[in-house]
Amino acid sequence: MTNFVGVDHFNIDELLTEEQKLIRNTVRRFVDEEVMPIIKDAFEAGRFPKELIPKIAALGLLGATLKEYGGAGIDSISYGLAMQELERGDTAIRSFCSVQNGLVIYPIYTFGSKEQKDYWLPKLMRGEAVGCFGLTEPEHGSDPGAMDTVAERDGDSFVLNGVKSWITNATLADVAVVWAKLDGVVRGFLVEKGTPGFTAVKIEHKMSARASDTGELYLNNCRIPKENMLPGAEGLRAPLMCLNQGRYAIAWGAIGAAMACYTEVVEYAKQRIQFDKPIASFQLVQEKLADMLTEITKAQLLCLRLGQLRDAGTIKPAQISLAKRNNVAMALQIARMARDLLGANGITLDYQTIRHMLNLESVYTLEGTHHIQTLILGQDITGISAFK
Ligand SMILES: Cc1cc2nc3c(=O)[nH]c(=O)nc-3n(C[C@H](O)[C@H](O)[C@H](O)COP(=O)(O)OP(=O)(O)OC[C@H]3O[C@@H](n4cnc5c(N)ncnc54)[C@H](O)[C@@H]3O)c2cc1C
Repeated sequence: MTNFVGVDHFNIDELLTEEQKLIRNTVRRFVDEEVMPIIKDAFEAGRFPKELIPKIAALGLLGATLKEYGGAGIDSISYGLAMQELERGDTAIRSFCSVQNGLVIYPIYTFGSKEQKDYWLPKLMRGEAVGCFGLTEPEHGSDPGAMDTVAERDGDSFVLNGVKSWITNATLADVAVVWAKLDGVVRGFLVEKGTPGFTAVKIEHKMSARASDTGELYLNNCRIPKENMLPGAEGLRAPLMCLNQGRYAIAWGAIGAAMACYTEVVEYAKQRIQFDKPIASFQLVQEKLADMLTEITKAQLLCLRLGQLRDAGTIKPAQISLAKRNNVAMALQIARMARDLLGANGITLDYQTIRHMLNLESVYTLEGTHHIQTLILGQDITGISAFK
């Protein structure tokens, strides 16, 4: 397995601290040694490689930005670089990690009771428990505020009814953060695996994010103790705050997928001979490579600044949306161009580009589609909501 050297046309490494480079390089090596040898087969088999979970936890990547509960308290750029490297391996690995962090650990830490935090955070951060985030429903994706899932108070319990769909880590999860309406207001509930009335079912036949565990959550008169409601989460703003954590990780992750496709196709183009010359010598091919490198470089600089804003505590949701929107569209475009330049070879899993290209179709849709990020930006620019 060759070691990935990254893409750094603007010497961006000079802007990184030693610690940021160390974290990036450590995760890069992990991906080279542990992810790359198995990911093609996992993707083809539609299997999440859960044997990697203890190794991801040992790297300190679960709850990495928290200083409490044994977290390493790494800065936002280090976290972003780690997500970039994981997605350079595969979307499934980055998704596992960023869902556990931004959509499970984050809401429990931010909205949970002391008892909920003390019980779940150490387990989730050590990788001894996996979590998932149930917001989307079969009939309500981009408009989660219209959700049908309901919670009703019954004595010392809540009783949940509804279906959540397209949930990452669904069948792996020991705990699901389920969003449901209680008296018409969106609230968050912790539902443990094995609770009567709660089942998770894998979604089969995906052609994208195949190595990711994606499923449906069924809540059928599912009774949970009243203590399992997240006390600090009231209204749709709470899950949307979680999605901003996820979108931040995706903005960085998309750079990793783009770098994987770009580096693969540069090597290929230098070696592939047509008309007695390497295809890299043709102007049309060079133009595509130049476009790819330019877009990757712009995305890297965007994320670097995004990370600074996040650490400064001044980051705005619309800035995260801009980065998610730009970087995922950029990565998808690069994957498609790279697939073209790989010719027929580009349609097999022997090259990683098609895997990334297919994965990026999901990333374009999840945690707010490209359109939804556009509308968030549109509202930020004009002050006018165009959602309805
Ligand atoms: C692999 C994968 C993993 C996922 N993981 C999770 C998870 O862990 N937890 C979770 O809760 N969800 C998850 N999702 C669901 C994801 O967040 C939703 O798919 C997404 O929000 C879009 O919803 P939808 O698929 O219902 O599409 P729809 O909302 O039906 O959208 C269909 C199309 O209509 C467009 N559209 C909708 N409304 C508007 C509008 N107002 N203006 C313009 N265009 C509009 C959309 O942009 C899109 O192009 C995952 C999805 C995938 C594919």
